Amino acid sequence: MKIVGTNAPEVERALLAGELSCPRCGGRLRPWGHARERVVRRRGGEERRRPRRSRCAGCSRSHVLLFEDSLLRRRDGVEVIGAALAAKAQGQGHRRSATALGVPASTVRGWLRRFTRWAEPIRSFFTVLAHSLDPMLDAIVAGGSALGDAVEAVAVAARAGARRLGPRPPWSFASAASGGGLLSNTSCPWADRH
Ligand SMILES: [Zn+2]
Repeated sequence: MKIVGTNAPEVERALLAGELSCPRCGGRLRPWGHARERVVRRRGGEERRRPRRSRCAGCSRSHVLLFEDSLLRRRDGVEVIGAALAAKAQGQGHRRSATALGVPASTVRGWLRRFTRWAEPIRSFFTVLAHSLDPMLDAIVAGGSALGDAVEAVAVAARAGARRLGPRPPWSFASAASGGGLLSNTSCPWADRH
């Protein structure tokens, strides 16, 4: 799996030009058909997608090219998941978020649990990232809850990223920075640290 931008023609061009690199070995990715169709639930409704598949010329592994507006093994778009996380950081319970987002309450509860479980390594990862994107950045002040501090670190890093690299939806930034593994046990950048 590799996270790419949401501009499909640009992704296709970069793939054909050999500009995309393997997330495991850094080798050149080549086109390799398409993955199975998947449904992504976005705020505006469901979207059917058939992601591009690629294969590494170096290690021969195949990688599905996943848009950065989604996460690994999640049906819901990352902006939907991020909205629930941000609402929780503001003190809103999972049931109200679920109603507002049109997602089952148990699904929202699962996101919040998982994010909370990894909150400290997530906070730490995005804090380091924020300071590497903007060395002049002030220290990020801890606010109280582990989840809230992690959400704040993601937001600060996303703003630093936007200043440095151009505008991008904050939770798409979070997906790209975590290789799509923001809510994943095994595929996130901090899995091997805990
Ligand atoms: Zn490779």
